[in-house]
Amino acid sequence: MTRGLTTQILHADRLGGVEHGATHKPLHLSAAFGYDTATELVSVFQGERSGHVYARQGNPTTQAMENKITLLEGGVGSVSFATGMGAIGSMLFALLKQGDHIVASQFLFGNTASLLQTIDNLGCTVSLVDATDASQVAQAINDKTRIVFVETVANPRTQISDLESIGQLCAERGVLYVVDNTMTTPHLFRPSKVGAGLVMNSLSKSISGHGNVLGGAITDTGLFDWTRFPNIADSYKKGAPKTWGLLQIRKKGLRDFGATLGAEAAHRIATGAETLALRLDRACDNALRLATWLAAQPAVLAVHYPGLESHAQHEKAKRWFRAYGALMSFELKPGHDTLALLDALEIVIKSSHLGDNRTLAIPVAQTIFWEMGPEKRQRMGISESLVRLSIGIEDYDDLQDDFAQALSKV
Ligand SMILES: *Cc1c(COP(=O)(O)O)cnc(C)c1O
Repeated sequence: MTRGLTTQILHADRLGGVEHGATHKPLHLSAAFGYDTATELVSVFQGERSGHVYARQGNPTTQAMENKITLLEGGVGSVSFATGMGAIGSMLFALLKQGDHIVASQFLFGNTASLLQTIDNLGCTVSLVDATDASQVAQAINDKTRIVFVETVANPRTQISDLESIGQLCAERGVLYVVDNTMTTPHLFRPSKVGAGLVMNSLSKSISGHGNVLGGAITDTGLFDWTRFPNIADSYKKGAPKTWGLLQIRKKGLRDFGATLGAEAAHRIATGAETLALRLDRACDNALRLATWLAAQPAVLAVHYPGLESHAQHEKAKRWFRAYGALMSFELKPGHDTLALLDALEIVIKSSHLGDNRTLAIPVAQTIFWEMGPEKRQRMGISESLVRLSIGIEDYDDLQDDFAQALSKV
């Protein structure tokens, strides 16, 4: 009998065998791991037996947490990193070579877009396309294309990538399909259902959920045929082909770049993940109710939330996702002062970050999209009055009351 994911995660450490009957995997703080014989050490180094050597490549605590992410995503393995950006950067540097081409969504998370600019400067080329339309991705793919990178739901405008059709396309062309699942998390959506080869999750957001830790993970779904990927080094082609990609990411990405997650952070992420389903169900419920209510307020020009029928990809979101997520954005009608509205909020925190138990609000054009300038903002559909909300798990009435009193002041 297959148990539910929450049950599996809650009991994973204990059933994996922890000393003293502890219900959590202990914090392994050792930098090094020793062996009784040099032969054993050599066989771990050469990949003939599993084991840890030096904690830059992970330790038993990070490994136990990685196993939970693998379980959540229904994958074959995961590698964790110190942050989500550490995960994306290390994965790209591990898998790409000069002259390679990447197709990515033009609505990417700002720091990922900035990272791709750096990769482009280093001799790869990047095409940014409107990934809500798979035909644009199809047109951009050429014979140098190694990776198609999209997010499930874009931040802050909540555009949803054409996930299923892009998956079919990547399968037909033999291109690695990488999906950033941070906004949905595996509780709302599993990218393996649409053919993703690799899934990225920022563990700093809803998966840990309490806003008290940073982390990231790359999960291999087992769907991509790594024998078709030209950049795998011979030394990583020893085991079954389904292990090649992640092995190269662990060695070239984690070991060589060193954006390693610490044991304490891994423990906090694992503890947070135990309640992912409970927290996210509540946050999504709050978000849908608040989006519906905000859209009916006279001062509000528009609300961008996949759960609203007015959202361009509402039907797709309904078909693919368990719920519509905790992220939304909205704009006030001209003549209303956005910053004054935010100042008047008492419960909602004026803060960057996402996927926290607490509701967070940020004026987008003036902060996270400030560096790129007005022209680029316009191309990305970021109006000067756009506010991003990451909805938390507060009691719903308190959230609505807070927005009602704040709106009455502007
Ligand atoms: C936050 C975020 C990241 C980066 O994760 P960090 O853990 O903050 O480095 C990447 N992608 C998306 C969609 C994010 O929201």
